[in-house]
Amino acid sequence: MKGLVPVKRVIDYNVKPRVKADGTGVDLANVKMSMNPFDEIAVEEAIRLKESGAVTEIIAISVGPAKAQETLRTALAMGADSAILVETDDEVEPLAVAKILKAAAAEVQPGLIILGKQAIDDDSNQTGQMLAALMNLPQGTFASKVVVEGDSVTVTREVDGGLETVKLSLPAIVTTDLRLNEPRYASLPNIMKAKKKPLDVKTPADYGVDITPRIKTLKVAEPPVRQAGIKVADVDELVAKLKNMGVA
Ligand code: AMP
Repeated sequence: MKGLVPVKRVIDYNVKPRVKADGTGVDLANVKMSMNPFDEIAVEEAIRLKESGAVTEIIAISVGPAKAQETLRTALAMGADSAILVETDDEVEPLAVAKILKAAAAEVQPGLIILGKQAIDDDSNQTGQMLAALMNLPQGTFASKVVVEGDSVTVTREVDGGLETVKLSLPAIVTTDLRLNEPRYASLPNIMKAKKKPLDVKTPADYGVDITPRIKTLKVAEPPVRQAGIKVADVDELVAKLKNMGVA
């Protein structure tokens, strides 16, 4: 069974995003970019499934600019076998990404598609669900445990206040949550080896997908600046202050 793992190049999770002066978006000039953290978890899970024999081959795929090749090389260095870059400099909305992934999956024929639950740049949390709908496949979202057995996969899902376990018939779509695993670092020898692994470059048009945006970002704003705290001498002063503020 092949595993297809979509990975997105996003602003590094350690970087504090700066909003552009005109409020049209986040300033990405000279900003460190990395693989979306949930996608690292997806690659790691695919590798573990390959190590256990459930998956035979891992294909990583990214929709994005030429630089997304670096993200794919990271996936290859971690342990993916081959990669596909669907190159475009345009912003691609989740529905268009899902359509591209559907077309790529028609060629690759994966038994399992493992995505991140959300990309930390747009926070959409849509692509996996849309892909499942477009492909008419069962989905297990927000996975904290994935077990492949025969022709099905059991997914433990992180839901509000607990865990839900579902069994999906394969082929299926899984999206990863934070506690599924701890992704490995790529070792230097594996980074070198990854340079020789196959990486195909395609375009959205090759898959017959129109990526014209349907959504326009009207405004992006920084969160309000936190007010400085104040110190009080005792409980009486605290209560008096709270009363003044209309809190108590
Ligand atoms: P989103 O729906 O945008 O929050 O993204 C959810 C997941 O879909 C991500 O964690 C990736 O696995 C996948 N994904 C989204 N956008 C892309 C992209 N441009 N290229 C590859 N995978 C993507």
